[in-house]
Amino acid sequence: MYWSNLAGLTYDKPISNTTYDGKHQDLCEMDYKAIKTICDQVPPRTVSRTELLEAIKAINTGKSEDIFDLLSLYETSNQGCKIGHININAVACADDIAVLSDNPYDLQILINHALQYSQLHHYTLQPQKSVIIEVDNKTRKATNHNCVFNLNNQEMPNVTSSSHLDSSSSWYVITKKLLYKYGFSDIFQFLDNPPSKYEWKKLVQKKMDSYWIQRITHDCRFYSSLIHLNCDAFLPRNCHPIIDLKNDNNPSKGALSIGIKLKMVTGTYMTQAKRASFTKHESPTCKLCDEDNEDIEHLLLKCKILENIRHPFLKQLDDFLIKETTISFYNIKTDSRLQLILDCSKINQHQADIILNKKVEQNCELISRKLCFALHSIRARTIIQQKEKKKVKLKI
Ligand SMILES: [Zn+2]
Repeated sequence: MYWSNLAGLTYDKPISNTTYDGKHQDLCEMDYKAIKTICDQVPPRTVSRTELLEAIKAINTGKSEDIFDLLSLYETSNQGCKIGHININAVACADDIAVLSDNPYDLQILINHALQYSQLHHYTLQPQKSVIIEVDNKTRKATNHNCVFNLNNQEMPNVTSSSHLDSSSSWYVITKKLLYKYGFSDIFQFLDNPPSKYEWKKLVQKKMDSYWIQRITHDCRFYSSLIHLNCDAFLPRNCHPIIDLKNDNNPSKGALSIGIKLKMVTGTYMTQAKRASFTKHESPTCKLCDEDNEDIEHLLLKCKILENIRHPFLKQLDDFLIKETTISFYNIKTDSRLQLILDCSKINQHQADIILNKKVEQNCELISRKLCFALHSIRARTIIQQKEKKKVKLKI
């Protein structure tokens, strides 16, 4: 049975069903450990039923009616889910109840119980929270998904998730999720031995840094447009080499150039080939030379119209590389040349025999930044001039 399978799961052996929320299971495990730690520290005390009822009433002050009797009613009911002989037809958290059933007739009876109880105690069931969530059951493929459930003669909405069940804005839940996200699996040791403010800040920073380094370097690999960007150079609180203005002797102009360079290296610069891939009637052919498709390689290395602009920068780059590494820019493969211009800190991953030290990388970056900006400016200006000439011709 589905529910007995679910109950038989352990933390180390998550369910194979892909729709199962493993993260939620981990969070429940943290809850369980927190409650167990508290119980281990405080000796158990016998309380009477009256004391318990008073305590629940105190929790619910200003909220809805106490649901203790409703839960007792569910406990004695034969409807709903069971694990062996144990009734699990209702799961309660404070004054919220999730009613569980593997057949629609039982579920409607359980809903009716809740409605009758609310009418008897003169409170209203929140319509926002009163929803149906259908869970697929692998063993029952022919589950009827078209069941209609009624609450007080109103059809209940059928939803895929309930906001009040899976996202809480309570401080405890948010803290718990943050701790889980940044890998504080050993949070209980901090309760026993609280660290100093300095130690705690240092630890939090370390955990957050390692999370984001891992996340960014991992996720970048799935974006084909970032193929030229050296994602491994990401360091929290540090500028990536391609946006670092420290070594630029003209930072205000450098800042302008960075925007263009960033677009080119992240594959978002609007070349004609890119524009054509988005627009049906647009041609991918370069508007400057009209000879080849204009992609980033054509713009940076091949377009003949831009050769006069390109040459002095590439000459400077070549002289510098020969001096520092004995490798000529013009002797390396086209792919590597493109990589060197877009993000030279990744050139080693591209062509293993080219190893640049930090100083050489910084200088290459400055030259290529200026090159990209110059090519972009002349390209934009030429296209505008062409458009104006066309307008004049049309008038004539
Ligand atoms: Zn061209």
